Amino acid sequence: MSKKFDVIVVGGGPAGMMAAITAAMNGTKVALFEKNKRPGKKLLMTGGGRCNVTNNRPVDDLIFHIPGNGRFLYSTFSQFDNQDVMSFFSERGVALKEEDHGRIFPVSDKSATIVNTLKDELEQLNVSLHFKEPIEKIISDGERIQGVRTAEGDYSAKSVILTTGGITYPSTGSQGDGYRFAKSVGHHVTPLYPTESPIFLTDDFVAEKTLQGLSLQDVTLSVIDEKNKTIASHEMDLLFTHFGISGPAALRCSSFVNQLLRTQQTVTLKLDCFPDKTVNDLMEEVAELAKTSTKQLKNALAGFLPERLLLFFLEKVGISEQTYGQTSKEQLEEFVSYCKNWSLTANKTFGLEKSFVTGGGVELKEVNPKDLASKKIPGLYFAGEVLDVNGYTGGYNITTAFCTGYVAGTHAAYNAFA
Ligand SMILES: Cc1cc2nc3c(=O)[nH]c(=O)nc-3n(C[C@H](O)[C@H](O)[C@H](O)COP(=O)(O)OP(=O)(O)OC[C@H]3O[C@@H](n4cnc5c(N)ncnc54)[C@H](O)[C@@H]3O)c2cc1C
Repeated sequence: MSKKFDVIVVGGGPAGMMAAITAAMNGTKVALFEKNKRPGKKLLMTGGGRCNVTNNRPVDDLIFHIPGNGRFLYSTFSQFDNQDVMSFFSERGVALKEEDHGRIFPVSDKSATIVNTLKDELEQLNVSLHFKEPIEKIISDGERIQGVRTAEGDYSAKSVILTTGGITYPSTGSQGDGYRFAKSVGHHVTPLYPTESPIFLTDDFVAEKTLQGLSLQDVTLSVIDEKNKTIASHEMDLLFTHFGISGPAALRCSSFVNQLLRTQQTVTLKLDCFPDKTVNDLMEEVAELAKTSTKQLKNALAGFLPERLLLFFLEKVGISEQTYGQTSKEQLEEFVSYCKNWSLTANKTFGLEKSFVTGGGVELKEVNPKDLASKKIPGLYFAGEVLDVNGYTGGYNITTAFCTGYVAGTHAAYNAFA
């Protein structure tokens, strides 16, 4: 087998597959190396196994939803964006549908539809596929990139694209190899930390399992710093678990929690169960429901909040078995304050291995945003989660992977012809 290629792609996730396809479409001889026996293992897990291909929002919104250095991607998205991702799959016969929050899925509801489409395209373009062949190192003469090494020997190429992903869910093959390869040619890697991760709480109700399994819709969770400033706020669904909180609102807040935990022991979170209503609205609503009732508040306010949460808040104030008439204005205000401004205490998130996305990665100052080429050594390119870019779940990371893959693949091909 020939071991000489124009472009070598390291990693068969969404970034790597798109990079290899694009480089091959530009007429280069491409090899893709993936350590697993099949590509796209992590991609298959996204969107609950349905593959959250991309998100149908304007580019500015995409960038807003990529809190980890999203602005680095302006140039990438000017070359290939979420609409192009959708066209790519539609043109290859994949019907797509939009769900809540702009999330795009294949109509088949199967991740395999997406992964198989990419794999078919790689085969049609005669990309040399090396599955179950991990890259051990990248080879350079100190002046420029020369190729890669595997257990089967050395492979040469003028361009090498690193798309090895982050370091979360290492069983998928994303084990941080790319950081090591990047460092070996002089790149720096910013501190790695878990993002899109469930959050542990130290509050007693967690150990007491009072709310375990309860889910809340469209509540606002905020992260508060030591100066009492809100540094992130997300209105989404939330789930109480045996260790704390999970669900989209918690996942989105987790990277901010981890950033504060670098200098703090614990982080304060605030939960607003009624983001669309004011304290006054709620005082009036409570009065309307209970004022004329002779029932205890836990019964008179049935339906105001999910039953367990209602009882929990009423008991905190000590008024669950009182009637409205027996309750003081201050007690009602305290109850409403729990509903609007409940303070929770976080002390950690899941570790990197069980978080969805890695924060940190290859230092962006050392990567040209226009072509995703290394500024340290000619011939090296980066795409996907290996870069110091992280987005919220909801298709933003996958969009980043596909779009940076496209840009790196295009410019790696140009470089190979130069
Ligand atoms: C459970 C779960 C759910 C998620 N849900 C969402 C979601 O809903 N929306 C969203 O935007 N993001 C989601 N993500 C994140 C998203 O999947 C990743 O950001 C995305 O897959 C990154 O793509 P990538 O191509 O950069 O890296 P990866 O998909 O991690 O692919 C990297 C590939 O490189 C291979 N590799 C690594 N080292 C080597 C080596 N030395 N040699 C050869 N191959 C190597 C790996 O085996 C792997 O296949 C989720 C992640 C998880 C774990």
